[in-house]
Amino acid sequence: MNDIPRHIRTSVGDKPEYYQYPEGIREEFIQTDDIEFRDGSRVTAAEVWDYLTRVGPVKYPNVFDNQNVTSGRFSRDVTFPLTLKHNYLLLTMNDRVTKARAQGHPVVFVQGGQSVDPYYAAGAIALRPASTGAYARGQREGFTRNEAQLEGRSRRQKAYNAISFEICNSAGYEHIQESDLAVDMVAPYTALRCSDVSYGTEAHRHGKRKDEVKLLLVDYPLDHQKDKEWAIRYFADNLRRLTSNIDALTGRTTTEDDLAREIKLHNEGRRLAVEIADLWWSAAHPPTNGKDRRDLFQLGGMEVHGDPVASLSLLREARRTIEKRVAEGHRPQGVQENTARLFVCGSCVFPNDYRTEEAGGIIVGNDNHWSDITTLVDESGEPYYELAKTVLSYPYEQPLPERARWTVEQIRKSRTDGVLFLYKWGCNTQSAVARLLVDEIKARSGVPTIIIEDDTALQTEQLQNRVNAFVEMVS
Ligand code: SF4
Repeated sequence: MNDIPRHIRTSVGDKPEYYQYPEGIREEFIQTDDIEFRDGSRVTAAEVWDYLTRVGPVKYPNVFDNQNVTSGRFSRDVTFPLTLKHNYLLLTMNDRVTKARAQGHPVVFVQGGQSVDPYYAAGAIALRPASTGAYARGQREGFTRNEAQLEGRSRRQKAYNAISFEICNSAGYEHIQESDLAVDMVAPYTALRCSDVSYGTEAHRHGKRKDEVKLLLVDYPLDHQKDKEWAIRYFADNLRRLTSNIDALTGRTTTEDDLAREIKLHNEGRRLAVEIADLWWSAAHPPTNGKDRRDLFQLGGMEVHGDPVASLSLLREARRTIEKRVAEGHRPQGVQENTARLFVCGSCVFPNDYRTEEAGGIIVGNDNHWSDITTLVDESGEPYYELAKTVLSYPYEQPLPERARWTVEQIRKSRTDGVLFLYKWGCNTQSAVARLLVDEIKARSGVPTIIIEDDTALQTEQLQNRVNAFVEMVS
């Protein structure tokens, strides 16, 4: 605990103690860039500061509870402007999505690890499970940490009952069917990676709100799909069907130019994330802590904040910060000298970054979601066709030898010392491929590997103990 800054230490005793950003960073922070939004509006860094120090703690005391902060909800590195702006965008998710929806932008539920270009081209807001969760939590104001946890768990339990107990239950069903969250359509790419989205999408057919929430499958053909012309054309037709179904909600017509413009915007985000990763990985010492690295790299997916233009604002500024930090040899607090570099494979499980860093490791990369961020769309061809071709070539969705080849490339670039394959109980696909993939990675790279199954609700401590023991082995 000693290297945790004093201002974010958990209180002792029965008095709740809420986190406050330290006043000493205000002057420097308010000089940083504005955040631009898709509707042309912007907020200044001074307005972000005001929200985080005055408005947010009153609306969402549970988020500012010090027990959340020390367990990793807030970054310890308050000198990195991205961390404050990222928090601001998550905390304002409900306000922003509600406003955009009132202006005629429907909310569409999608899967994690897929591109969201066509949804935004059609004027929708694409929210993956984690972002749907942020949107839902934003509707519950004034909750304490205990109230928020209790409410979240009881709703999740209802979702288990409604779908099946044999699922991981991470894919947002509870928010859409067990609350009145305003989601207009469920329309994920039904990609191989995730059994929960497939189970959940089926269950939406009989959910309580089945008459209010439109359902559409963007059918993703499997088995060497990227090499087959018919599969590319078939998936392109599915993407056209997607935009025309969103058009039925908005009353407008999405053109090829709309999609081409959106692809260009999202490609900029994907490119920036890859450039940032190259800088980060090439530095002698990690230029940020693990939590900030994860938030930063994942921004390239352009969907986490429900506003790709806002995500792009953060990425552009962060690119400059990382470049400067690498040039100056910056060392973030808490990341040890000669730290063991870990790469995480598999979907939806992450150890606690701070606990991992205290044990002498740092997570330097992960395959899930990074796979779609690193796959750029060719801007010169017919947009639906090019997008379909790209989506069908995501490395994470390829047959195992190909997925392993790509993963080893990332492991080499990130100078990884050890690979963790983590999956949740109930994650049918990732649990089935873990052994095969890890053996292939080990044979190709020689890097030590471990597989750990997790049940986030019940086994957080056990997961972390195993990760820390692995850090000790590879250090
Ligand atoms: S853990 Fe597996 S099944 Fe669950 S949401 Fe993630 S990918 Fe899907």
